[in-house]
Amino acid sequence: MNETAPFRVRAEIDLAALRANVRALRARARGAAFMAVVKADAYGHGMVPCARAAVDAGADWLGTATPQEALALRAAGLPGRIMCWLWTPGDPWREGVEADLDMSVSALWALREVTAAARQAGRTARVQLKADTGLGRNGCMPEDWPELIAEALRAEAEGTIEVTGLWSHFACADEPGHPSIAAQLTVFREMVAYAEGQGVRPEVRHIANSPATLTLPETHFDLVRPGIAMYGVSPSPEIGTPQDFGLRPVMTVAASLAHVKQAPGGHGVSYGHHYTTPGDTTLGLVPAGYGDGIPRHASGSGPVLVGGKWRTAAGRIAMDQFVVDLGGDEPEVGSEALLFGPGDRGEPTAEDWAQAAGTIAYEIVTRIGSRVPRVYVNERTGADEQHDD
Ligand SMILES: *Cc1c(COP(=O)(O)O)cnc(C)c1O
Repeated sequence: MNETAPFRVRAEIDLAALRANVRALRARARGAAFMAVVKADAYGHGMVPCARAAVDAGADWLGTATPQEALALRAAGLPGRIMCWLWTPGDPWREGVEADLDMSVSALWALREVTAAARQAGRTARVQLKADTGLGRNGCMPEDWPELIAEALRAEAEGTIEVTGLWSHFACADEPGHPSIAAQLTVFREMVAYAEGQGVRPEVRHIANSPATLTLPETHFDLVRPGIAMYGVSPSPEIGTPQDFGLRPVMTVAASLAHVKQAPGGHGVSYGHHYTTPGDTTLGLVPAGYGDGIPRHASGSGPVLVGGKWRTAAGRIAMDQFVVDLGGDEPEVGSEALLFGPGDRGEPTAEDWAQAAGTIAYEIVTRIGSRVPRVYVNERTGADEQHDD
């Protein structure tokens, strides 16, 4: 795509920023392997280009939620270790075995499906056993762990599986000092010790997501699994800004004003007339809406940089468009409206939109829809980029 051609709305993805973020995160977790989490289309940034950039910057593993995502990475030619953790009965276990995926198992039903697939494929499946150490979501409960470990050891003895990892996930790593963090670590250590005591020899033990990678070195174990931080977004404003951690936002969403017009005072704007012009003014039409993933919850509050000034979504954000009150300014139609980006040019950030919409910045970037073209910049590794392998 021509980077300078006129456009309605687009998401620019800065792969040099992504690579620098991977290097910054790796430097915080020296001694641990690095799994780049690229689920949900790399949090809206585009899975395959982001996975390639992460590998270029030294990621050892790729992580996805679904097996379909992991298989798509393999089909795109990504080498090395790829782990996926969200399996549903009937999912493509056999394809997973044949693609050499590391497949997470939290329960006996999944162990049965993966061992059956390995027998059919005539190959050993790589399995990582997931413990629920207190998140209360997926993962095997401590009470059920001995049975899962015993069954896994039986399958290992028979050659159908190899247990490559023992792992878990935090509930509150983004809340500094939350008592569940230490409690989960204790349970994790106990569950790992039990499995190893029974004879499991995992290649990797891991529990750290982005906030744990950034702020809790005691959680790094053999591997860290950052997602959001790799895209240059802080997991929570409470623990710091991206800049505080040496991270740079990767996605910039920009639109071109589709209409600029004068309007008198008292003019109702957009569905429901939740905004009325306070006096003579100018209105700018931003041609992006909730059909593009711009949250309707940010109606009346979502910020946009136009002509060097922050403007606010006036009235309802509609499916395809919303309006900003330009206060008498008359930028040309086609002028840039910056919704969010790194903030260098004074534009809002994904975190600003999260606050406007009452959500988290993860959701803002991830929900940017398929109607918004991704434009990749800095795809090639620059000569000045430091490698520290
Ligand atoms: C999404 C996810 C991650 C990454 O989480 P971030 O908070 O984005 O770093 C790590 N592990 C698992 C199991 C996940 O589902």
